[in-house]
Amino acid sequence: MHFGGIRAVDGASIRIAEGSITGLIGPNGAGKSTLFNVIAGHYRPTSGSVRLDGEDITGLSPHELFHKGLLRTFQTAHEFSTLTVRENLMMVPADQPGEALLNAWFRPAAVRAREEEVRARADAVIDFLEIPHVADEYAGNLSGGQKKLLELGRTMMVDAKIVFLDEVGAGVNRTLLNTIGDAILRLNRERGYTFCMIEHDMDFIGRLCDPVIVMAEGKVLAEGPADEVRANEAVIEAYLGRGLRNKPGAIA
Ligand code: ADP
Ligand code: MG
Repeated sequence: MHFGGIRAVDGASIRIAEGSITGLIGPNGAGKSTLFNVIAGHYRPTSGSVRLDGEDITGLSPHELFHKGLLRTFQTAHEFSTLTVRENLMMVPADQPGEALLNAWFRPAAVRAREEEVRARADAVIDFLEIPHVADEYAGNLSGGQKKLLELGRTMMVDAKIVFLDEVGAGVNRTLLNTIGDAILRLNRERGYTFCMIEHDMDFIGRLCDPVIVMAEGKVLAEGPADEVRANEAVIEAYLGRGLRNKPGAIA
C-alpha cells in the first residue's frame, strides 16, 4: 500500500491461521494500521491481494466484508454516545426488517419479533462481557476501557469469523484489560473466533497471542511465539536501534 512516495506497507505478506489469536506488533509507523485498513476494505492496495478462506476479497467494502464475517474494531472507539450500551449493541445487526419503513407499516409483528431477538442477543452479549451494570448507561459516559469492551461486544452481535482489533488494550487499566483479554480468549475458544490484534503491551500479547508477527518499515520482520520474537535481534533493533540492544525488556 503506497501513498504517493510512502510505502506504508511494502511487500508485506501475512497469513492468519483459522482459530488463532495472531498478534501484530511493531514500532510506530511500521504499517500495522495501514495493513488492517487494506484487509478490512478501507483502502484498495496498490498491489497484492487479500484472501479469506481462499476467496479473493481484495477491494471489497467494509460492509461486504462484514457480511462475510470479517469485522474490525477501531483504535478510537466508535460508539453512539447518546445511545445506551444496549442500544449501541442493537444498532449492529444488518438487514433488520425494522430498517425498511414499509415493513414497519405492513409487517409490524415481524418487526417486533426481530427487535425482541436483537434485544435478547444484546443482553446475552452484556452478560458475556459481565457489564449488566452499564447496560442502560449512555455509551458516552463509559470509561475509555469500557468503550473498548463495547467495541468488542459489537463484534458479538453477528456471527463473526475473524475480528481485527486495533489496539483494543491501549489506555485501558489493568483490571479492564484482563476482562478484555478473558473475553477475547473465550470468544476464541467457545465461539471459534479467529483474531488478529495490534497491541503494544507485550504481557498482554504474550498471554493471548500465538503467533506474533512483527512489522517494521512496511515489511514483515519476524514471526513466531511471543517469547521468541521478543528475543529476536532484528526485532530488538527495530524497536530500539543499535546500542540499546541489551535492554530487551524495554519492548513494551
Ligand atoms: P502503524 O499503525 O504501524 O503505527 P501506520 O500504518 O499508521 O503505522 O503508518 C505507516 C506509514 O504510512 C507511516 O509513515 C504513516 O505516516 C504513513 N501513512 C499511513 N496512512 C497514510 C495516509 N493515509 N496517507 C499518507 N501516509 C500514510
Ligand atoms: Mg496504528
